[in-house]
Amino acid sequence: PFLLCLTFSFSMAKNSSSFPTYFIALFIMSRLIPTIGYRLRDDPEAIILASTDYGHIHSENPAAVLYPSSINDISSLIKFANNVSVPFGVAAKGQGHSTRGQAMARNGVVVEMSSLRNHRPQHGSSGIEVVSTTNKDEVKLYYADVGGEQLWVDVLHATLEHGLSPVTWTDYLYLTVGGTLSNAGIGGQTFRFGPQISNVYEMDVVTGEGDFVTCSPNNNAELFYGVLGGLGQFGVISRARIALEPAPKRVKWVRMLYSDFSAFSRDQERLISINGRQQSNALDYLEGSILINQGPPDNWRASSFFPQSSHNRIISKVNKHGIIYCLEVVKYYDHHTETTADKELQNLLKGLNYLPGFKFENDASYVEFLNRVRSGELKLQSEGLWDVPHPWLNLFIPKSRITDFDLGVFKDIVLKRNITTGPVLVYPMNRSKWNERMSAVVPEEDVFYTVGFLHSTGFDEWKAFDEQNKEILGFCVRSGIAVKQYLPDHKTQQDWMNHFGSKWKTFQKRKALFDPKRILSPGQRIFQIKE
Ligand code: FAD
Repeated sequence: PFLLCLTFSFSMAKNSSSFPTYFIALFIMSRLIPTIGYRLRDDPEAIILASTDYGHIHSENPAAVLYPSSINDISSLIKFANNVSVPFGVAAKGQGHSTRGQAMARNGVVVEMSSLRNHRPQHGSSGIEVVSTTNKDEVKLYYADVGGEQLWVDVLHATLEHGLSPVTWTDYLYLTVGGTLSNAGIGGQTFRFGPQISNVYEMDVVTGEGDFVTCSPNNNAELFYGVLGGLGQFGVISRARIALEPAPKRVKWVRMLYSDFSAFSRDQERLISINGRQQSNALDYLEGSILINQGPPDNWRASSFFPQSSHNRIISKVNKHGIIYCLEVVKYYDHHTETTADKELQNLLKGLNYLPGFKFENDASYVEFLNRVRSGELKLQSEGLWDVPHPWLNLFIPKSRITDFDLGVFKDIVLKRNITTGPVLVYPMNRSKWNERMSAVVPEEDVFYTVGFLHSTGFDEWKAFDEQNKEILGFCVRSGIAVKQYLPDHKTQQDWMNHFGSKWKTFQKRKALFDPKRILSPGQRIFQIKE
């Protein structure tokens, strides 16, 4: 009877346009769902936090925020959201590091996943459990069972205690496992080890109907592949089993500068063609970026990388050519493998066509290297420049059109507008490292590039950057460059259909199977909640 009364009051409230009534219903809800009642908050502090993200561009107020103490809390909420006569949206929020409201839920409930970090008795206090085992062929297998709410930086530290580490990373580690697995999780290791979604053995997921399901390639495979890159549409990831390998201790880290884009991309593609997981002579990491005349030659990613004594030389190259391309590679090593790693690295870099005299080398610990963005973040935070608008645009571009993209975008739109303020990344990856069954969408060609415009702007300026983003996308459409957005932001269902292309039907079918009322992650704006 309690639930009936609750259902009635909630749906009445939702149907009425009166917000106070809605909140009264929420109040009743919070008292009547015994397990989660006291974990729901609708005070201004909670609402404001849940209606903001790293983008600082888009904002949607939820009706309430759930601070779960267990996966059961999330399941109860989702079941409740399904059973009211007018269902409401539920969005898991990791760190809210999305830029376009993807983790928001207008008039629904945002689930603050970070709250689980304090409540993980079943997996030890950290929610990260490291396991070494052997598979049926007697091959050693290492993995970590990790809560979806965990930060990658904590996964790194917990696994290193066992001499192990995940193999593939994002550039920034203060992101949640559930959040990056809902997108892909890409970085400099992707060309060789695939994105983070290619390195998951198994997951526990609370589906859009509130069911707790364990899934893997052999068990509930449709859910498993759906969730990976699934933009939060099919379930809340409560645990992921992440592949680990023995961790290196240190890295040799090299940056080389180019003035000629074709030399730069040719060298990048050559280097990523050596990509076997066990191939010891392959690089461990490869990225790239552009340097343009925007003040200092580098940015928050690694401002101390280039020696101070070389800054003027670099700036004059940038001034001379307008754009300089920076190829960045890393080779891992341990104390006993240093000489071999050095030789292999020098062999790999032999014959590359960077500007003579513009090769810079550094040596760092594995952790310093992986966590390289953090120091920049702390600096920006201290200057009040971290919580500002981020009108980002991330694209995947087929290799066959990357030169056209360079000419039409970097050398034309970007230089003409001359507003770029953050890093612009450009590096290739191998499609063979992505599993076609996963929801994530990439271009059709064997090699494709990621280009990330990671703008950081003042509160009055982001619109000019969005105009530039639109111009870039318009150029790609007019030139027939079949780009796919990464961390996508689309406005209409037709845009989403184009985005998913041949995967759209499967995506829709999975939605009907696992979230029939379409309540999960409404902030992605792919589906309308079914009333
Ligand atoms: P949120 O933004 O909170 O959520 C993202 C989406 O996933 C939402 O739809 C949400 O509802 C859903 N979601 C969250 N948790 C779960 C869960 N447990 N189960 C199911 N769905 C869930 N990405 C890269 O790939 N490579 C990079 O190098 C990279 N660098 C970055 C650097 C910075 C400084 C920032 C801010 C972001 C970067 N990103 C990068 C983007 C990042 O991967 C996305 O922001 C991603 O969404 C993860 O952020 P989050 O954990 O805060 O997730």
